[in-house]
Amino acid sequence: MRAALVVFLLAGALIGAVVFTLDLNARRSNRQEVATELAGMARVSSSTFATMRANLRARVGELAGSAGLQEAVLARNPKRLRALASAHDARIIVHGSAYGALPAGPHMAASATMTRDGHVFARVTIGVPIDRSFLSVLESATPMPEHAALVLAQDGRVIAGGPIGANAAVRHDRLKFGSVAFAAKSADANAAGVTVLALEPQSAVDARVSDYRRKLLFAAAITLALAAGLATRLARPVARVLGDLAKLVHQAQTDALTNLANRRALDERLDVEVDHAHRLGTSVGFVIADIDNFKSINDRYGHQTGDAVLRAVSAVFAETVRQLDLPGRYGGEEIGVVLPGTNLAGTRLTAERIRKLVEALELETPEGDRLHVTASFGAACFPLHSTVEELVAAADAALYEAKREGKNRVETATAKRKSRSTGLADAPATT
Ligand code: GH3
Ligand code: MG
Ligand code: MG
Repeated sequence: MRAALVVFLLAGALIGAVVFTLDLNARRSNRQEVATELAGMARVSSSTFATMRANLRARVGELAGSAGLQEAVLARNPKRLRALASAHDARIIVHGSAYGALPAGPHMAASATMTRDGHVFARVTIGVPIDRSFLSVLESATPMPEHAALVLAQDGRVIAGGPIGANAAVRHDRLKFGSVAFAAKSADANAAGVTVLALEPQSAVDARVSDYRRKLLFAAAITLALAAGLATRLARPVARVLGDLAKLVHQAQTDALTNLANRRALDERLDVEVDHAHRLGTSVGFVIADIDNFKSINDRYGHQTGDAVLRAVSAVFAETVRQLDLPGRYGGEEIGVVLPGTNLAGTRLTAERIRKLVEALELETPEGDRLHVTASFGAACFPLHSTVEELVAAADAALYEAKREGKNRVETATAKRKSRSTGLADAPATT
């Protein structure tokens, strides 16, 4: 189940990363798309604005050249002049007197002069207010996305289409009116000094990708569900293979009878530790123990009881040494122990402790007899013996010495000579 969870989490992380990247790209390209649309809008509106201004100029020229106005001006007929000004949204100035008025608010204006013999005797101006209806004309001539809008600004302030008077500076393609953000693009100010801004509320811009995002998340959820299904289906076989593999590795390094490390694992570990100690300038203790008179136990109680004794003694080794030490079955009823970072004195103390515990073991035979065993120990230490071969040979020789000296004792091998430590009597009080 753990393997399934790991596979599921991995798949989840991967899908999460893909979703994040796709979403990021979608938002980025959406922003670009909106910016392009708004820039197009601003450009088209701006050129419509220019066309409207040209039309206004034509209109004012036409009015200035019209017979009606010419006659009213020559006759200096105020009533007629006022009526003409009102009918054409114009202001007419004749020899310093003005008739009609221009719009009070922001407006687009065009003027024409009336001359005679090179002298200007009248001036006609038509003003069109720049307001909502002016903007409607611009909007109707501009293709616009659903939520987009046009705003006109003059001298950096909104004059139509937005909060009048608000700051209309577009920064980083964004604009804010109060707390509401807009994606924005502006066209250059036109001849009338008016800037056209095209806007779309940022919320509407974001909403454009939400449909895509919904589909993306849906696809991710389905993929994740599939991954979960696959993970749980694969979890069992994968776990079994991994378990088998771990078992094989364990078997390859373990002695089946005693459950200690086998000879190969012990040799390998000794090589590694001696190599480490050589490089780091530390020491490695090595102990070989051999059960005393084991043959007679076999002979008296049978091979199976012999096996049980061997297992019980092995268990004492396994339980007594430190986590980083390695006890292993060295041969028939011989057990070796690798003691990293341990000098000769420490090695001897460890051997002595095990010896005492083995001696204290009490086993019961199937026949109900109480059985006691002892073992003899040879202890040696790197770098007093400077190669693995010498170390093993020295421990072996010390063991032989222990047997020769009466068994149930620990002998240590020094570099020059083998010193002796007897069993019970001489053993240091380490337990
Ligand atoms: P010593 O004190 O000198 O060691 O005497 P010993 O009888 O133990 O002599 P030796 O070490 O030569 O004998 C080892 C005996 O251990 C011989 C063999 O039959 C027995 N043996 C070796 N491996 C096993 C095993 O796996 N199971 C059992 N039951 N006996 C084993
Ligand atoms: Mg023996
Ligand atoms: Mg033996």
